[in-house]
This record gives sequence, structure tokens and C-alpha cells, in this order.
Amino acid sequence: MTWTLEALTGQTETHLISFEGLKLHPEIKTDFIALKNAAKQAGFTLGIASGFRSFERQKMIWNNKFLGLRPLLDDQGNTLNPHLLNEEEKIKAILRWSALPGASRHHWGTDLDVYAINHLPPKTELQLEPWEYLTGHQATFFQWLKKNSPANGFYFPYEKDLGGVAFEPWHISHKNATAPLLKQLTPETLRKVISCEVQGQKWILNKMDWIYDRYIANVSKG
Ligand SMILES: [Zn+2]
Repeated sequence: MTWTLEALTGQTETHLISFEGLKLHPEIKTDFIALKNAAKQAGFTLGIASGFRSFERQKMIWNNKFLGLRPLLDDQGNTLNPHLLNEEEKIKAILRWSALPGASRHHWGTDLDVYAINHLPPKTELQLEPWEYLTGHQATFFQWLKKNSPANGFYFPYEKDLGGVAFEPWHISHKNATAPLLKQLTPETLRKVISCEVQGQKWILNKMDWIYDRYIANVSKG
């Protein structure tokens, strides 16, 4: 199935289905339910920190980071002062942790940031930071998730830091549903959606091939 440019880049959601308050790619519903049930059996209440995200929302995240209205982090997770960085440095810092608007896998309804609700300590907010999943309250859940995702059709595109997007143990993706979409999402496609409303437009358009190779195509294959 070929998706329209709008569907591929999060500018419409009419092709997605609603399930338990989530917007899902129709092909992932069965596997998602199976994963959730398997988690329940193992003692984990699967929670979704982030599912579908629209182009508009991603654009807002992007622009706010660029303009210093939302924290911008370095590779170690320390806060950077965007006013001390040039355009290129800012964009590279944003791309480690946030996708270019139009290029987020969260636009597809196939990718989910997950956690075990019942393992979150009281009065604790999930930070989506690696330590939570490696040594913190989500560690046993993460071990379980790594083992059980493949059988349910999911994998971890950011399971390793490949020099592009940072390590994101919470981010799972539906393998079969994303494969054709990733193929369709080319630099040419992305150039069409980066309007002047996206901060850093000129730099992005000039470097789109590099951004694509480093941050979009450069993911674990699962
Ligand atoms: Zn994610």
C-alpha cells in the first residue's frame, strides 16, 4: 500500500484507527493487543507514553527547541543553551533526540514509546531517559520487552546509538508495517514538507540527504 504524502508525514490521521485512545496503523492493532496481553501475563501493565504524533505537533517541538522554549540536550542529556550555538549546532543537537517534522516514525501510528505503568514508583513521572530502562524502575520491563517484542511483530529501531538518533529503549516499532513506509520516505519527499514555518529551513533543505542518511535510514534493522 502506498501512502499519500500527507499520511506519510503526519499531516492527516484519517487512515489510522482509534483504539483505547490511541491512533494506530490498522495493521498493528492485533499485534499490539497481543503484546499488551503478553505483558499483562508477565506482570506488566503496558502504558503508552507517546503514540501517534502529528506533523504540527512535531513542528512545534522542533521550533520550540530551536528557539530555546523547550530544553535542548547534548549527547549526555545535559541542557544546552541554544543562544550559544549556531544554526548547524542547534539542528544537530535537536536531531539526536527529536525527529525532523515529517520524518518522525510517530507520524505513522506504528511506533510507540512504552513503559510499565505498574512499575513506575508513586509520585514519579516517567522521564524517558535511558537509565530508567537500564538500571531504574523500568529495567525488568525492558528485559522482558526485548525478549518478547519480536514474537509480537515489534522491534527497536533505536536499540543502539549508531551516531544518529540516540539510544531509545522505550521506542518500539512494528516491523512489517513500517518497512514500506520507510522505503517511501525519501529525502525528496521530506523536502516537500519543510516549509518556512520550520525553523532552520534553509540549512535543512541544503543538508537533507545528510540528515536522511544519518538520522532516518540509519536505524537498527531488528
Ligand atoms: Zn519514540
